[in-house]
Amino acid sequence: MTIDKQVYPRRPLLPNTAHSCLGILGGGQLGRMFAHAAQAIGYKVAVLEPEAGCPAAQVAEHHVQAQYDDVAGLSVLHTLATRVTTEFENVPADSLNYFTCDGFVAPSGACVSIAQDRLAEKHFFTRCALKNGVYPAPHWGIAIHDDVVSAPEDLLPGILKTVRMGYDGKGQVRVRNRAELELAFAGMNGQHCILEKMLPLAYEVSVLVARGVDGEAVVYPIAENVHRDGILFTTLVPSPNISPEITEKAQAAALDIIAELGYVGVLCIEFFILEDGTLAVNEMAPRPHNSGHYTIDACITSQFEQQVRALAQLPLGDVRQHSPAAMLNILGDVWFENETSDQVREPAWDQIMAIPGAHLHLYGKAEARRARKMGHITFVASSMQEAQSALAKACTILGIAAPENV
Ligand code: ADP
Ligand code: MG
Repeated sequence: MTIDKQVYPRRPLLPNTAHSCLGILGGGQLGRMFAHAAQAIGYKVAVLEPEAGCPAAQVAEHHVQAQYDDVAGLSVLHTLATRVTTEFENVPADSLNYFTCDGFVAPSGACVSIAQDRLAEKHFFTRCALKNGVYPAPHWGIAIHDDVVSAPEDLLPGILKTVRMGYDGKGQVRVRNRAELELAFAGMNGQHCILEKMLPLAYEVSVLVARGVDGEAVVYPIAENVHRDGILFTTLVPSPNISPEITEKAQAAALDIIAELGYVGVLCIEFFILEDGTLAVNEMAPRPHNSGHYTIDACITSQFEQQVRALAQLPLGDVRQHSPAAMLNILGDVWFENETSDQVREPAWDQIMAIPGAHLHLYGKAEARRARKMGHITFVASSMQEAQSALAKACTILGIAAPENV
């Protein structure tokens, strides 16, 4: 699979015609919010997803209930939709390739397959870094036991990650020395892995970028992210900690990466800011991202509308942020009465809605499970401090330990 960095003239798919149907591989919350944005503009939406009643299928005009690699299902989606995208990072790249013809699919299978493979992604970032100066963590591929023996000593302490299918901190083990690395790799059941040097993080940010087929590209403000137990907990935008210099460097690197990929659509790139102020690039998601949900309520163009625009080959929208925003992820845990109980009840959404500037988004998932992403709330305010205290208030209502920095 080769990357196509060429630019093409736009061939817009206008809304409100007999062909104005956008297809999505995957039926989760990202697909649901994409559908909301597409429908607001006048597109119909077709979702391919095996699970009945999934968040996106609840709102889409068409649901093709099939596995992501089911050729019959892909063929039905091809008939229904005029353009196809993905909301799910681990959709087989070959399923996207099924649609490859003349701007039908975005992002391309080639781009998605790089993002699905941490080693390919690191190689790609390293190549880009020769130009943009932002490197990934030092790393070493571990496919067989010999690679454990030959791993450079200076990568320890490090993090062993599976090359494929990791998300929300899953498939990762922190290792202090070679003995722990041996054990961790033995526990990976032969999956190919990557050992990354443990970097001294000061904080983490992400940068959303979008690019059209004609090479037009836009970059959103820097989002500062806090994770809890490996899952995104809060996103603050503008980032309270970042300097103008690092902002510029991260945004420039993100624009460089999206252009080098020849990527079409919305891409989210995660960066680390190290204790000495250095910027490092971590990973990318070939789709709208949880840390970009704030754009729905705080930017002129949401990341989902941007994805619709890129896919339909319309002009990209204004990325300006009109209000400071603090986003809180809502996990299934808040449905449970306490940490040990298996009794569930509906959280006090009326009290949440009473907080000025609160925008509640629930994804329509029938069953609340611990650590499951059920929704998010974005607090917009006239200052970040106000947005953060609104977020802290919501944490109290929902019984979540508030962030340390409020
Ligand atoms: P995931 O796909 O699960 O999001 P990440 O590579 O982003 O995987 O890792 C999850 C989290 O682990 C990061 O957000 C960061 O907090 C921490 N982390 C990952 N890699 C490193 C590293 N090389 N050094 C220090 N912390 C790291
Ligand atoms: Mg990550």
